[in-house]
Amino acid sequence: MEIVDIHTHLLYHELDKPFQSAFSTFKTRFHCLVEIVCDNGIVGWGECLGPADINAAVVKSMTSLAIGRNPLDIEPIWQSIYDQFRDQGQRGPIHTALSGIDIALWDIAGKYHNAPIYQLMGGAYRTEIPAYATGGFCPQGGDHQQSCIDEMMARVEEGFKAVKIKIGFGVYKDIETIKELRAALGTDIEIMIDANHGYDVIDAIKVGRAVAQFNIEWFEEPVIPEALKSYKTLRQRQSIPIAAGETWHGRFAAQEAMEQGCVDILQPDVCGVGGLSEARKLITLCEVNHVRLVPHVWGTAVALAAGLHFHAIIPPTPGSHNQYSPKLEFDRTYNPFRQAIITQPIEHNNGVVTVPNGPGLGIEINRSSLKEFSPN
Ligand SMILES: [Mg+2]
Repeated sequence: MEIVDIHTHLLYHELDKPFQSAFSTFKTRFHCLVEIVCDNGIVGWGECLGPADINAAVVKSMTSLAIGRNPLDIEPIWQSIYDQFRDQGQRGPIHTALSGIDIALWDIAGKYHNAPIYQLMGGAYRTEIPAYATGGFCPQGGDHQQSCIDEMMARVEEGFKAVKIKIGFGVYKDIETIKELRAALGTDIEIMIDANHGYDVIDAIKVGRAVAQFNIEWFEEPVIPEALKSYKTLRQRQSIPIAAGETWHGRFAAQEAMEQGCVDILQPDVCGVGGLSEARKLITLCEVNHVRLVPHVWGTAVALAAGLHFHAIIPPTPGSHNQYSPKLEFDRTYNPFRQAIITQPIEHNNGVVTVPNGPGLGIEINRSSLKEFSPN
């Protein structure tokens, strides 16, 4: 079996109602899928996190290093591409592009061996993954507190037992929003807060100290990802567990964060970290450093499927009768092509998502939907 072609597919949609995180305004949904074609007709799919057009360009520049090779040589292909691109960046688009290629290779391997990816990666510890609803962005020009509470009440109605909201819109406004959200949801629902690195360390400490009383599961990306020392400071000076990692691509970046004691929870994204091959290495890194691993997931159903297979293979650490199971990040913001691009949508049932058990990623791409949402 030989790789004969690699295509990228851009998916684009302009939002009627833009929304904001601490630093970004989402006016569109724009994602990049990777399709790898083999000479025997097997096709594998992957996805890249981040700017879709940049990812497509980087995947294109990596293509010649994979053409003609056996797609089952996943690690050697990964390594030879990375070796060629190392000098251009140990983080960022090199990793996100390589992630799409790597996931597509695992999809091919699963189809070739007629087994789900989690089986090829050593087997599943779980195939039913409890999920948390991600949302609570600020509607552009809207009222964050009210929309956040309305949205999360609806998610709990749908069956979610955990929710994550966006903060970073002003220290005292955020504290008030979190207080009101806890009052609205009651004590049984887990709440996570994500500042998308919109604070400096002083404001992050203020927020962390003020809202700890509302039983917050984790405080995500309080400060910019480069400020590793500040992450450590935050762990020492406020009591909410600190989570980060969606932009610390690859094992070397994760190791640096571990060495400096930056996080209680590492959040690698399989579509950003370097694919399933690299994500699997971070399991060991977290285990030996005694850091909890809860993957980050953001993208289309391809990213969701890849994230689910990764979730399945994360061992419960430590083993006990009452084991911690990492929750799946289930983005509930509006994206018309998220599920439309696959033939069988991946949905939650009362806040629980089942890992697809078909060959590879276990999904089938709906090609007419790819055309429908193509920007060209
Ligand atoms: Mg985040």
